[in-house]
Amino acid sequence: MSENIAVLGLGLMGTALAETLLAAGHRVTVWNRSAAKADALAAKGAARAATAAEAVAAAPLAIVCVLDYEAARAVLDGAALAGRTVLNLTNGRPAEARETGAWVTGRGGDYLDGGIMAVPQMIGQPGALILYSGSRAAFDRHEATLKLLAEPRHLGEDPGLAPLYDLAMLTGMYGQIAGFLEAAALVASEGRPVREFTETLLVPWMHAMAALKPRWAEEIEQGDYATEVSNLEVNRVGMANLVTAFEEQGVKPDLLLPMKEILERRVARGHGAEGLSGLIEELR
Ligand code: NDP
Repeated sequence: MSENIAVLGLGLMGTALAETLLAAGHRVTVWNRSAAKADALAAKGAARAATAAEAVAAAPLAIVCVLDYEAARAVLDGAALAGRTVLNLTNGRPAEARETGAWVTGRGGDYLDGGIMAVPQMIGQPGALILYSGSRAAFDRHEATLKLLAEPRHLGEDPGLAPLYDLAMLTGMYGQIAGFLEAAALVASEGRPVREFTETLLVPWMHAMAALKPRWAEEIEQGDYATEVSNLEVNRVGMANLVTAFEEQGVKPDLLLPMKEILERRVARGHGAEGLSGLIEELR
């Protein structure tokens, strides 16, 4: 069934969202601060709104995707939100999502927050995921539409949950990138082929290591860090070797140094017999 949907913010991501909804046959009303960015979408059949308030008035579901929450609030300020669902797909922090959620519901609207785990080219394609939090009723009402954009996953009524999980997933990603970059620099320091190393050795190794994480997560939930595999004292010595090897190879171990420091701190506190999951206690 064709629905009326407003998309506010037509940067790379907003444009991809609007295009996907249009291609699925929905009636899409678009607005962007710099009006020219609506031209291509209008040529494909989108209706143009002269103001953000006009776009919100045109549809029960208003998707906002702009630079940051400050911009999102500026865009929504002055729009009549009563009876509307605001879906904010702008990237932000849990506290900002909770504040914006309260602001929208205080004006009579339903609020959904979303964290997009995809680049614009992936929107509407298999593999794209969007995390949602906030009004479950609004999510259920619009789920069929949301499925057009990406696999939708609702995490709970607290609007802060989608950004929390989004940031946690990005954190995992940055950690993985840090390990990859250091490993590649080490292999390259001997003039060895980085691509071959990455494809044939590093990626399978990282997959095998990733598969252990649910067990570590269980240890963290239970607060039981006993290990029969590789304790912190063994890892402390291993990490010291690693950092010395980097220095000998003329490569900076900068992305590894915080981990080395935390390992040493935990062992110095008398936890050398624990497993690596116990390092979380040093982060709390
Ligand atoms: P772009 O830089 O392509 O677009 C930014 C958009 O924000 C433009 O529409 C811009 O309007 C608008 N904007 C900025 N400031 C204001 C303001 N004060 N008032 C009104 N509108 C404003 O960014 P993206 O489209 O890539 O990203 C949009 C959101 O999506 C961000 O929060 C980003 O983190 C998130 N995201 C993006 C991903 C990506 O891969 N691109 C992946 C996952 C999330 P104007 O055209 O007038 O400048």
